[in-house]
Amino acid sequence: MKYLSEYRDPETAGKMLFELRRIVTKPWTIMEVCGGQTHAIVRSGLDQVLPGEISLVHGPGCPVCVTPLETIDRAIAIALHPGVIFCSFGDMLRVPGSRADLLTARSQGADVRIVYSALEAIKIAGENPDRQVVFFAIGFETTAPGNAMGILQAEKLGLNNFSELVCHVLVPPAITALLQSPDNLVQGYLAAGHVCTVQGLSEYEEIAEKFGVPIVATGLEPNDILEGVLMLVKLLEAGRVEVQNQYTRLVRHEGNVHARKAVAEVFTVCNQKWRGIGEIPGSGLMIREKFSRYDAARKFGVGDINVREPEECISGLVLQGLRKPAECAAFGVNCTPEKPLGATMVSSEGACSAYYKYKAI
Ligand code: SF4
Repeated sequence: MKYLSEYRDPETAGKMLFELRRIVTKPWTIMEVCGGQTHAIVRSGLDQVLPGEISLVHGPGCPVCVTPLETIDRAIAIALHPGVIFCSFGDMLRVPGSRADLLTARSQGADVRIVYSALEAIKIAGENPDRQVVFFAIGFETTAPGNAMGILQAEKLGLNNFSELVCHVLVPPAITALLQSPDNLVQGYLAAGHVCTVQGLSEYEEIAEKFGVPIVATGLEPNDILEGVLMLVKLLEAGRVEVQNQYTRLVRHEGNVHARKAVAEVFTVCNQKWRGIGEIPGSGLMIREKFSRYDAARKFGVGDINVREPEECISGLVLQGLRKPAECAAFGVNCTPEKPLGATMVSSEGACSAYYKYKAI
């Protein structure tokens, strides 16, 4: 598929569904890793029309959902610091920390601004030399290159009033952790196409070989996902363990070499806590020592915050594909997008928010 009209074309979808029904012979559990894919599936009703043998479970691929409570608390503490301009992607403003969110901090006088990139925050830093500008650098492999560029650009411009609060997460270690869990039921993965656009496919080949699971790098439109499911079911039915690429219009085997180079220059791999899941070895990125003057957590001394998740929220199980949102007792009762208890409800990519918006339950 190359053109926009093809991505949602019902006739193309019908042909793929027909083929899927023809070839499937037994039950398969498939995880779509990306929150954007979850939303496309639920919004388009794809999960309702797939053959009954195929069960789609939702993965941990929503960066807003997995940002730990204490990182939100750190962001709020920095934002409330006198003289700070705190810049963030809009999604993060309503994500609840242990006691409040960034919008609450703004109502208390913090200068919290929505930006679309680290470079926009750099521009604000250049225009406000007497203020400290902090960018909230969250996300998967997709946002890391832009955030690395922010630090490289700050160095190039000689800015000493710019820093980043970094909380980057990496997908392959998370898939590895899910596969190592004794509770794992997933037999094949739809890898997030946009992440593969940056990282390429080699890490997924290692995972496929090590755990014997087929993986298909898949786009985010409904027919992308349907085609990804079809490719994966063909592999599963044939007992073949391979990594295939559905998202050929953007994903190259080697990924984006220039983007990866920028990331490797600025960041180094670290252990990372995922909200609701816990610490996953080697699943995060932190600023290299060489660039430590751009590390907001160090600059503002907010490294040591530890808090507990609310007990009634089961978003950790939702993020691991072990529960569906509607199985949570709080779903739609005391947890709604207007008053979210957990990040999978507040994030626009979260599974709870997708079910609340699009599913009549
Ligand atoms: S419905 Fe709310 S409380 Fe329940 S898992 Fe989702 S975010 Fe957590």
